[in-house]
Amino acid sequence: MVAVRSKASTTPTAMRSRNLLLYAIRVPIMNESLLDILCCPLDKHDLELEDPEYDDDEIVSGTLVCSECGERYPIEDGIPNLLPPDMREESAA
Ligand SMILES: [Zn+2]
Repeated sequence: MVAVRSKASTTPTAMRSRNLLLYAIRVPIMNESLLDILCCPLDKHDLELEDPEYDDDEIVSGTLVCSECGERYPIEDGIPNLLPPDMREESAA
């Protein structure tokens, strides 16, 4: 019982930090200056923009590709999804 209780007490902290991470990386407006700031969450290498679609200065869609590990991060509706693949929530397809 003690082990279960201490495990339960760590869960909220883990969830909170995950939510903060989500908040931090889901920026409202994607543009090229942001590309200088963004990096691969796995290895911190630069991301390259592939197939960008622009609306004025905003990048509304495209794909960010890590120059090191080749992981791909989609930009949808101007919001880059920089979650590592194993942290992405699978939305109902
Ligand atoms: Zn990478």
